[in-house]
Amino acid sequence: MNILTFDIEDWYNCDFITEDFNWDKYEVRIYEMIDLILDELEKRKLKGTFFCLGWIAEKHPDVIRKIHAHGHHIGCHSYQHELSFRFDREGFKQDTDKSKKLIEDLIGEPVNAFRAPGFSITEKNVWSLEVLTELGFEYDCSIFPAAHDYGGFTSYGKAEPAVLQLPNGMRLKEFPINIQPVFGKDIVFSGGGFFRFFPYALIKHWAQQSPYIMTYFHTRDFDPGQPMIDSLPMMRKFKSYVGLKTSFAKFQRLLDDFDFMSVKEADRLIDWEIVRKIEL
Ligand SMILES: [Zn+2]
Repeated sequence: MNILTFDIEDWYNCDFITEDFNWDKYEVRIYEMIDLILDELEKRKLKGTFFCLGWIAEKHPDVIRKIHAHGHHIGCHSYQHELSFRFDREGFKQDTDKSKKLIEDLIGEPVNAFRAPGFSITEKNVWSLEVLTELGFEYDCSIFPAAHDYGGFTSYGKAEPAVLQLPNGMRLKEFPINIQPVFGKDIVFSGGGFFRFFPYALIKHWAQQSPYIMTYFHTRDFDPGQPMIDSLPMMRKFKSYVGLKTSFAKFQRLLDDFDFMSVKEADRLIDWEIVRKIEL
């Protein structure tokens, strides 16, 4: 099962890059980039899940309206890309609720899927998952089931969809990111810097061996014309800008070689009675 998802944020919409949230001063590039992605999916009759920032819903509503008009599944990616564990429970609830409502007002239907910025839901903030159920979310895609810069969720086990049974008695359907061990480190090849860095032949090889792929692409992954942020630490800079010129062609090849679907479509194909239940 291969799932196609995008995080809808412009190149500057990362608190860990700009740290100031004063984003109106940056060059807006998301309109032309989203057209590039939507056209590609339209040609192939493919549907994906698009996790949108509430900030984008507020400032650039036409981007989200357009994605929705193309029939894609719309999810929530926080209001302004703050890592979930930086909030306390109430703050997280307010932020997520604000973002969810902004997006729902645009598309006129409930938003039922969430992805935390930077996969920032870990064993230490399981309460975030409880909050998602309180706000009416059905699906979460925030879990990185291995060690990660932001902690990861190592006790999750195998990277595959599972039902989370939460301390508040509620259930949430989890679609984690899939990981690949490379030289003793668990990496994600299905989006972001590693997708751009590794040659396509290797990405394809890993994808063929993986029974479950969860992609996570951004418009900036395909945009060699984006301004470079000079102040980034060297490693971060490398990861942010490596392979930009060839990444869209790689993305097209990935769509040629594998079948993809949205989280909503995947949900219908899964027999949730028999998948693994994880007691948290
Ligand atoms: Zn993001």
